[in-house]
Amino acid sequence: MADEASLNNIDNEEKEGQEVDLGPGLACSHSNELDQPGKEVSWRPFRPVVWKNPESWKTWKIPNKIEFVTQVKMKSSLDKSDIPKSKEELDKHLPIERVNFNKLENPPEKAIQVMWIGHASVLVQFDGISILCDPVFSEHIGPSLVMSKSPTWFLDMFTCKRYRKAPCTVKELQKVAIDVVLISHDHFDHLDNQSIVDIADTFPDVKFVVPMGIKDWLRKALPRFSSNNIRELKWWETQKMVCEKGKWMFGGNQSETAAISMDIMEKRTISIHCTPAQHWCQRGMMDLNTRLWCSWAVQGPQQSFFFGGDSGYCDVFKKIGRKYGPFTLAALPIGAYEPRSYMHPQHVSPEQAVDVHEDIRAKFSLGIHWGTFKQMGCFEHYLEPPKLVEKRLEEKGLELDSFQVINHGAIWQIPENPSTEKGKDHKAKF
Ligand SMILES: [Zn+2]
Ligand SMILES: [Zn+2]
Repeated sequence: MADEASLNNIDNEEKEGQEVDLGPGLACSHSNELDQPGKEVSWRPFRPVVWKNPESWKTWKIPNKIEFVTQVKMKSSLDKSDIPKSKEELDKHLPIERVNFNKLENPPEKAIQVMWIGHASVLVQFDGISILCDPVFSEHIGPSLVMSKSPTWFLDMFTCKRYRKAPCTVKELQKVAIDVVLISHDHFDHLDNQSIVDIADTFPDVKFVVPMGIKDWLRKALPRFSSNNIRELKWWETQKMVCEKGKWMFGGNQSETAAISMDIMEKRTISIHCTPAQHWCQRGMMDLNTRLWCSWAVQGPQQSFFFGGDSGYCDVFKKIGRKYGPFTLAALPIGAYEPRSYMHPQHVSPEQAVDVHEDIRAKFSLGIHWGTFKQMGCFEHYLEPPKLVEKRLEEKGLELDSFQVINHGAIWQIPENPSTEKGKDHKAKF
């Protein structure tokens, strides 16, 4: 359950909503149309809740992991990834750019800019705030205990390894002043123990906004980090951020905000909305779906941003678009979609990512969740995702520049006037 302070921040200004009861002491205005995750009492000791995608989502099916391992993973003919062994070949097709730290340390006042750190990790900056989404900087990802105790050869063999390195370390971002970290769910390729520890060390005042259940995980991973700096939300709940003297804090506390005039509040307030995703969660043997998964919609005074996390295609994106769209920029997953029979409930295809881009009413989208890890389920050719995005854009008659991929470490600044400037110089070439 969210703590009291965060509950104060639940958005009560639904566009067309009505009051519904969220439980003891909780009232939030929700339209009946707004899908809520299912919740069951768990048999697992110390893990009382199991989350489910809503029963009404006919696009959801529980992934059959046994079928996946026995029928898909063992058939090497299904693996079309063909990731080159040679660094030269990789550098040619997926170059890692030298990070322009000066750009990150001096973000534009009136535009939105995003850096791709690789896979689902992005650093997005707009309206005076710097947000890291699903930050993973580590070379290997996997269970924390294995990662900390095992030699490199073991990690290479038994864990998931990057084939494209992160373009920078957390420490190298020190001068950027990261304000907020958003986590979409607990899978290793989105929530990495070492990266979280490094972020908390480097930015002791950083604020984490996470879906239900992940606050507990963070407390264990960061025993000395103030839990007041962590807020967890359920779908359609909102956390407001308020900037005071250049520092972003959690908003909503009456005494804290009373001294700030409405005029300043409007200019310095950002709303972070926890929005649904069709996915699931698991890190260990005993924690299947004991933490919630989500996407994020962030609205500032001038710009807005959507982070897709991981999701299969479902109608809820249209609802997100109606409620919080249009977005200046979205970061949408485009990789790890084959074989479709197994992946379709949990990961969109590149073509469906273009549909999501339209559903949520994104002006621009960045393709993420590709080109970095050869992970379980990444069976498509490693360069296929952006090609299929482009094909779908052409089929739909959409501007090719409206949905781009960029190089690792590249910074894409959305121009203030997109109709006259296309921002083409950051587009990766394939
Ligand atoms: Zn996932
Ligand atoms: Zn993922």
